[in-house]
Amino acid sequence: MALVFLDLDGTALDNGRPARGIVETIAELKKNGVYRVLPVNYGPCKNVIDLNRRSVVNLSSNNYLGLTFDPDCIRAACQAAEREGTGTTGSRLANGTFAGHIALERDLSAFFNCRHTIVFSTGYLANLAILSTVVGPGEVILLDADCHASIYDGCRMGGADVIRFRHNDVADLEKRLRRLSRRDTNVLIVVEGLYSMLGDRAPLAEIVELKKRYGAWLAVDEAHSLGVLGEQGRGLAEEAGVAEEVDFLIGTFSKSLGAIGGFCASNHAGLELVRYASRPYIFTASLSPSTVASVRTALRILGSRPELRRRLWDNARRLHERLRALGCAVGPEPGPIIAVRCPTVEEAFTRWNGLLARGIYVNMVLPPATPDGGALLRCSLSAAHTRAQIDRIGDAFADLPGNPA
Ligand code: PMP
Repeated sequence: MALVFLDLDGTALDNGRPARGIVETIAELKKNGVYRVLPVNYGPCKNVIDLNRRSVVNLSSNNYLGLTFDPDCIRAACQAAEREGTGTTGSRLANGTFAGHIALERDLSAFFNCRHTIVFSTGYLANLAILSTVVGPGEVILLDADCHASIYDGCRMGGADVIRFRHNDVADLEKRLRRLSRRDTNVLIVVEGLYSMLGDRAPLAEIVELKKRYGAWLAVDEAHSLGVLGEQGRGLAEEAGVAEEVDFLIGTFSKSLGAIGGFCASNHAGLELVRYASRPYIFTASLSPSTVASVRTALRILGSRPELRRRLWDNARRLHERLRALGCAVGPEPGPIIAVRCPTVEEAFTRWNGLLARGIYVNMVLPPATPDGGALLRCSLSAAHTRAQIDRIGDAFADLPGNPA
């Protein structure tokens, strides 16, 4: 079945291409039982949300450490808004660089122990900016096939040659690096820390070996691993002991830090050029003072409250164990993203609806957004989930008709 997605401006897209009339499209989606009404969250972003006027356990947000309602972050945000206003109303390059943006960049450089950091208005824009600027036409990006859409978009925007290697397949990566070594050009390898769809880790130590052997650069998007992996919560590069070898560490504030925004940290002085050469940095308004203030506070909490990370992992292990025991098709390792594979799109819809009817809201991820064109029910855990809620989620899966167990 060809899936049709509706853009919020009402344009119908058929796998990215303009599609038929919107009325016919909606009618067909409804006929096929795959029409989804935009879910509206009437309450705050907590572990139980008021979704379309129904109270459900939220397994859909990336609020890994539960910091969206941290009292210190909220206080910092309120004070900043009172002091500096609700927005900067301008680009970083014009009037939109406040002292807070510079301070946040310094905090991030200290946190990652590197010389340069640039803050962007979202994680999406951070990927667009970095991947479209640090390499260009005539140069090459080697991209893990499962990378996020923002990484693909950034690659496309810059005009470098983009070559995909098979997900987490170091032998395939090496084969391509070997071929490219005959071509005298710069190569940037791009991977994620924890992958956004399946929640699996990149084999970073092996990838670092290859990047050193072949003289390539390495960019790692730690969107889902910041605050989640590593002793200090710095991400997979910290956990794997290779932080020094990552040339561009990219991340977002919209997940474990509970706000919005993105960044890139690097030891390359050339990073600073991005401020003058990159459209996603220049042609958008900068982060609001309240966001900057809450992110600075959240960053301090990553270091000072490791118990949040422990709680998140306890929840991840508990749900993973339960789903595995039920016979659900989950990955081999527990993690804050637990993806349950469904054999068909129809099955994913049935199970997603069944979970919703039992008060559990998970992300349903459908092709073309999924790896391998499969359908997924993607559960994102938080340190804020209680044990009782984790058990309730497990009970809801167990109660689905046709559950493998
Ligand atoms: N990178 C990855 C791997 C992501 O999963 C996401 C968001 N889901 C982003 C970047 C974009 O982050 P943001 O929401 O801050 O734009």
